[in-house]
Amino acid sequence: MRRGWRAVGAAGALALLWISTGLSASETPETSTGKPIPASSDWAPVAAWAPVAAWVTARPLPHADERAALMQDYLRQHLPAGVAATPEAPRVVVLHWTAGPTAESCWQTFAPARLSGRPELQRGGAVNVGAHFIVERDGTVIQVQPTTTPARHAIGLNHLSIGVENVGDGARYPLTEAQVASNIRLIAELRAVHPSISHLIGHHEALSMKGGPLYAEADPKYVNQKADPGDAFMAKVRAGVAPGLRGPAAP
Ligand SMILES: [Zn+2]
Repeated sequence: MRRGWRAVGAAGALALLWISTGLSASETPETSTGKPIPASSDWAPVAAWAPVAAWVTARPLPHADERAALMQDYLRQHLPAGVAATPEAPRVVVLHWTAGPTAESCWQTFAPARLSGRPELQRGGAVNVGAHFIVERDGTVIQVQPTTTPARHAIGLNHLSIGVENVGDGARYPLTEAQVASNIRLIAELRAVHPSISHLIGHHEALSMKGGPLYAEADPKYVNQKADPGDAFMAKVRAGVAPGLRGPAAP
């Protein structure tokens, strides 16, 4: 594959992905950091868990043990020396859109523990992409993993963030007012459970945190610029959340 910035059209959204050929140092077993994640950041898949609130529907992703082991591998590969995952104390809530029409298709995409397809992401690790929540177009919120289990949803922030996927995109299935309301309600619940949460961002804002204290990625070439969920959606959600959450530019 050609090396360079590449425009990828997906469901009306434009994503710029950094495509590079060859192995980077972080991919080779010999030079991989290989360091164990400090005990303070270890986590184990939770066999039984409850959703963050009674109004949230639980639909756990399968293969939790395999996914957790692969996610540990991912974080060992991607976290710079001295940076620990802090799944018990997440700092950032990252909002997304699914670029698809149904929660079912999103859940099915997340269900395998291992990534398939997505060649631009394969070199970044074997664990599948995922999130913690899927918000249906009617506002129904589905939780697919405990909030204390890291998920692969935002490069540079996976070690300390919670991912919320909204079913839709920017064109064919514009995000709904019901989703805005449910994101606001969900964020309030998350802040009550995790007072450590300090930031609320859209996925398209994640690169603005690069160079800041929360962003951590050992491979400087492993980045992507996403379009989801867009400024309009973020403005509506931010207008509804209680004060105190910072945006991407604030440390
Ligand atoms: Zn996203």
